[in-house]
Amino acid sequence: MEFTEKALVLKVGRFRENDVWVKLFCAGRGVITAFAFGGSRSRRRFSGCLDQLVLASFRVGTSRRGSYNVLQEGELLHGFPGLRADTRKLGLVAHCLKFVEAVQVGPEGARPVFDLLLETLATLESGVVGAEMLPLLFKAKLTFEQGLAPDLALCVRCGRPAWDHSCLDNEVPHQLAFSVERGGLVCGFCDDVQAEPLCLGSVRVLEWIGQSRPADWPKLALEPGMRRELGRVVDRFVAWHLGLRWENGTYRKI
Ligand SMILES: [Zn+2]
Repeated sequence: MEFTEKALVLKVGRFRENDVWVKLFCAGRGVITAFAFGGSRSRRRFSGCLDQLVLASFRVGTSRRGSYNVLQEGELLHGFPGLRADTRKLGLVAHCLKFVEAVQVGPEGARPVFDLLLETLATLESGVVGAEMLPLLFKAKLTFEQGLAPDLALCVRCGRPAWDHSCLDNEVPHQLAFSVERGGLVCGFCDDVQAEPLCLGSVRVLEWIGQSRPADWPKLALEPGMRRELGRVVDRFVAWHLGLRWENGTYRKI
């Protein structure tokens, strides 16, 4: 079966003298691996396409026995020069690409993640995102879009509106918390020692992430304390629901 599809190159490697393998994130198919035989010397078929962080339209076929994908040709659409020229941004991009690869996005649900990734790259390329927030926002948003959006309205233990009797109550300073396992807020009346404390401001940010697009992200400015709180919650949430943990510069299955 042959198809032509827009895809972002996540990874490239060489094998034998002239042959190349690529890991592609295809807009409608998710992440696939394909081989470009003669790819390292064929300018005509793959001009500028066989590099990490290239958006191209690829024609992909299958091997004779149908056991692997074979790249037939590619047409370069965008090479993200604004990201390539900036090593700090490239570090952030690498983080996002590793996350997408680790999530193992399949055909179902590929399109929203693909769009999210491209919008994230465009925002980053235009030069305005606070670096320390980008991986957190991308990770949280992608996870929420996998059908894992947390419940931020009702307490996941007692079912009452979680905010009504929370930090706003001066007489009884009940603290809101976030239950990673149950995927939502725990109100101040319910005890859950496992839950992460979360202030109302952080709850609002989580809610905002669910509704925002990457183009909105530059507007967000957070105090370091809130950033740490959110970072902890999002990392634990991703670890629990997607089974992924960031360790030594890469995502590991746990
Ligand atoms: Zn409760």
